[in-house]
Amino acid sequence: MHGSEFDPAHQIDRLRAPLFLSWQLTRDCNLACVHCCTDSAPGRRLKDELDLGATLAVVEQILAEDIPYVMLCGGEPLVCPHFWTIANALGAGGVLLKIETNAQLLDDEALKRLAELPIRSLQVSVDGDTQEVYQKQRPGASLKKTHGACALIRAAGLPLEVTFAPTRLNIHEAEAVITRARALGAFRFNTGALMQIGTAARHWQKLEPTREQYARFVTVLAEQSKVAPEQMEICYAPFDLQEGMRRAVVEPPATLLVLPNGYVKVAAAISLICADLRESSLAHAWDAYRLAWRTTSVRLAVERVIANQSEHQKANSWQILNAA
Ligand code: SF4
Repeated sequence: MHGSEFDPAHQIDRLRAPLFLSWQLTRDCNLACVHCCTDSAPGRRLKDELDLGATLAVVEQILAEDIPYVMLCGGEPLVCPHFWTIANALGAGGVLLKIETNAQLLDDEALKRLAELPIRSLQVSVDGDTQEVYQKQRPGASLKKTHGACALIRAAGLPLEVTFAPTRLNIHEAEAVITRARALGAFRFNTGALMQIGTAARHWQKLEPTREQYARFVTVLAEQSKVAPEQMEICYAPFDLQEGMRRAVVEPPATLLVLPNGYVKVAAAISLICADLRESSLAHAWDAYRLAWRTTSVRLAVERVIANQSEHQKANSWQILNAA
């Protein structure tokens, strides 16, 4: 079943392939952040992550399906041994790339290589404006190194996007990070409510911002949105996972979310897996994804995460969807 055989209930049913693929290359990371939503940390590579051959098979299918835009993320994508092979092959095929990184490994050499690729965004996490606050959230990481990497990104002529994950530890520095992002030359500042998934869920009691902190945060975002939006846009909608799921159930995004072992997840906030790229093609995964959004299992899972935020903490306990 592919393309026109779908009765178009959603806009995705009219598309023969996804418009965007978000690919978690590895769960491994060089940092162990307290707010991580993917349970990443040093040495936390999954036992069954795709090997080079399986990875290249996915790359070939991305090119064959003409998927225009791919995000490489993790974990930290730069610690994946296949990162450069994947990025170079996709780039050579004309696929636009977004790379989500903590920037600790971005040096001159890496930036030189990235500058040869069709990069639409290098998204760097900047979760604080002082080393003291930044390292509470990202133990062992250097804010100076992150700022230095952002400067190198701009010096290489590459598009910089800054992302900020608010917690009780850093939310008071949000405005300073926005000001910093402007000074660094970012084209976008990206944020939203903290997700109760992965490591963040385990530290929830000490991380979740209070209602008052969130209210002040949103006021700051609204005010800052009016400052030179042509230079840097401030993105914070949908603000939380529930709002995102409410939108997705009406019009599911034309996005495939691929996990490090080749599983394809229906949505970040729910645990259901609709395909496995080790066993089936990307074209089949796209059909399975579109079909998934018509199933009672997905509808019920979405209703549960909309009704109850604490349901989000089950999102990384993957379950195979039985669409029959
Ligand atoms: S938040 Fe990002 S940098 Fe931090 S542990 Fe998770 S994947 Fe690594």
